[in-house]
Amino acid sequence: MTVLTRGLSFEQGPIRPPSEASSLLLRFTRNCPWNKCTFCPVYKGTPFERRSLREIKKDIDAVAQIIDEIKALSWSLGEGGEVTEPVVRAIMTSNTAGHCHRHVAAWLYWGTGHVFIQDANSLIMKTDDLAEALRYLKERIRGITRITSYARSSTLSRKSLEELKILKEAGLSRIHVGMESGSDKVLAFVKKGATAKQHVDAGLKVIEAGMTLSEYIMPGLGGKEMTFEHAVETARVLNEINPHFIRLRSLRIPPVVPLYEDVQKGRFTPLHDDEVVREIRIMIERLEGVTSTLTSDHIMNLLEEVQGTFPEDKPKMLAVIDEYLELPEHDKLLFRLGRRGGTLRSIRQIYDPDVRSRLEVALKELTTETGFDVETLIKELADRYI
Ligand code: SF4
Repeated sequence: MTVLTRGLSFEQGPIRPPSEASSLLLRFTRNCPWNKCTFCPVYKGTPFERRSLREIKKDIDAVAQIIDEIKALSWSLGEGGEVTEPVVRAIMTSNTAGHCHRHVAAWLYWGTGHVFIQDANSLIMKTDDLAEALRYLKERIRGITRITSYARSSTLSRKSLEELKILKEAGLSRIHVGMESGSDKVLAFVKKGATAKQHVDAGLKVIEAGMTLSEYIMPGLGGKEMTFEHAVETARVLNEINPHFIRLRSLRIPPVVPLYEDVQKGRFTPLHDDEVVREIRIMIERLEGVTSTLTSDHIMNLLEEVQGTFPEDKPKMLAVIDEYLELPEHDKLLFRLGRRGGTLRSIRQIYDPDVRSRLEVALKELTTETGFDVETLIKELADRYI
């Protein structure tokens, strides 16, 4: 059987968006050059580092070599160079294959052709360097159909339209921006390091350059103090941008983030799940004239079913929210328990008598075992996903 080179690897960062679950992950920079958002636990305590073009190209070469090895293995197994289940199984059980062989094998098996460039803001690279790295990536690895990166609005707004067009031409096809809020007050309070105006400028420029734009919104980020302002201003900014995607990722506040201290000191009052749902309703209701697709694919969101494309699916999205808000209080509680415990995805599931009785038993047992009241229990379950 073909030998897989032991220790052959390339570098990867800690996170990717949910929509990049079947993408090849490649790291062009390390950590976050801003790293001050008070709600964000991801890179705290780790300094930002640029990676040299030489290092990045070496990693791309490692991916190309891994692909060659996997294809050779496929031939040796009689699979004709295709990455089939027997090939993936052979790699998963091989003792010379490391994490990178497994990651690339899964990527080839899924066959998406999608690549996600890590970490938090690859657009901070010099445009020429990033373009060269992207071109090298497309040259060395065949079959890439989409390249995506996170980018900060403040960085994007410093790039010219021409620079963004160069990057698009080099292969960068999609940008995810952590907009979080369209309210300048909320953005300043959580130290986002971007203004609503920068979000609008950056978003419009990305679209004009021909790239697909995703804006990540963080329901709950205004707390009780600014929930209405957060919802209304976020809708206003999204209406101005009309991004291709609006993605919801609801706020959680683990003790490691600076916002936790704001909560302890009484400067920020977190919303209850039901208040977050009402806030999302206000935002959706005010989204007018957009043709964006809204997704709620993040595990932190209570209502995964709130998704669709504007304008046609807006009534359906509001109806899902209303269905939840009109549930009897005990049913809401059971749904939240099931959702935060990872067993429910749809509101309707709680009408299933078996599911219901299992949730009733779980509620009784978990509160007895942990000694937590129900709200603390649900919060603890939700925080496991941070
Ligand atoms: S810019 Fe993004 S990665 Fe950086 S601190 Fe803010 S939320 Fe976290």
